[in-house]
Amino acid sequence: MRALVTGGAGFVGSHMVRTLLEQGHHVVVLDDLSTGHADAVDARATFVNGDVGRTAEVASLLREERVEAVFHFAAKIRVEESVVDPRLYFQGNLVATLAFLEAVVDARLPLIFSSTAAVYGVPDEVPIDEEHPKRPVNPYGDTKLAVERALEAYGRAYELPWCALRYFNAAGADAEAGLGERHEPESHLIPIVLDAALGRRPSVSVFGTDWPTSDGSCVRDYIHVLDLAEAHLAALEHLRRGGKSGAFNLGTGRGHTVLEVIAAAERVSGRRIPVVSADRRAGDPAELVAKVERAEKAFGWRARRTSLDDIVRDAWAWKLRDGRQS
Ligand code: UDP
Repeated sequence: MRALVTGGAGFVGSHMVRTLLEQGHHVVVLDDLSTGHADAVDARATFVNGDVGRTAEVASLLREERVEAVFHFAAKIRVEESVVDPRLYFQGNLVATLAFLEAVVDARLPLIFSSTAAVYGVPDEVPIDEEHPKRPVNPYGDTKLAVERALEAYGRAYELPWCALRYFNAAGADAEAGLGERHEPESHLIPIVLDAALGRRPSVSVFGTDWPTSDGSCVRDYIHVLDLAEAHLAALEHLRRGGKSGAFNLGTGRGHTVLEVIAAAERVSGRRIPVVSADRRAGDPAELVAKVERAEKAFGWRARRTSLDDIVRDAWAWKLRDGRQS
């Protein structure tokens, strides 16, 4: 298969590119390197430095490369930034994606879209299934949900086959392949905790220690990035078999508290990690855990790398290997 991966220089996208290549597919990466890293793009892929919002350029790329399937990862993903500077998100995630879809719809290609658990907002109950009301609490979630709504309508009207995959907390790495998480500035828990283990940060601030959870810290469903990549491929195969379009949660179905993540990082690294209690972070729900049965029923996918220690171990291997990080 010949696949286009937008955002293939980013964290999840770069692991997707590698998974596709390992399975013998031809991969074209379209990325503007605004937040991604050129050195994360596998040398076997064809790399195009460009903007997904330029419909005519995307259309000729799809034609010239004879693309058969599209994985759309390119997006801005920082919740706090989306609150401070929402137009970056409405332009970059929504307007640019709608322009991108013009070309994809015309080419009648199946599309796998990177969505997020942020479409649910603060959940009424956990685990969260896909029918749970969608009430995003930040512009990041708003833009992802708006694209999902467009996909639903386009799918019905123009026979566009699509899946929106709602990630819970993407984590882990494929350190052997030289791939891992590198956000600047870093806001995600596991890289922050590992930086503290390395002494690159003095401590980890735990955002809220009085939540109604087992130890008072927030619960999240951490899913290995290689499980995410495999899910994208399974979703595409489902569409290519004529399976139904729709939205699917991608998580493990198990939650871990922030303090459990820190304990796992101490076990894996063999180092003590200084922790300080901090205020709750605005917009954080106490608990986010996926109900995962829909993806399993539809395309036989289930997360395989579910041990928290293993996920943290892979992220640690990447931290140790990648000396370029701050
Ligand atoms: N978190 C924390 N300290 C940090 C970063 C994150 O306590 O320095 C908590 C955050 O409140 C959330 C969990 O860790 O409960 C995961 O946060 P992250 O930003 O990695 O992902 P999110 O769940 O926001 O998508």
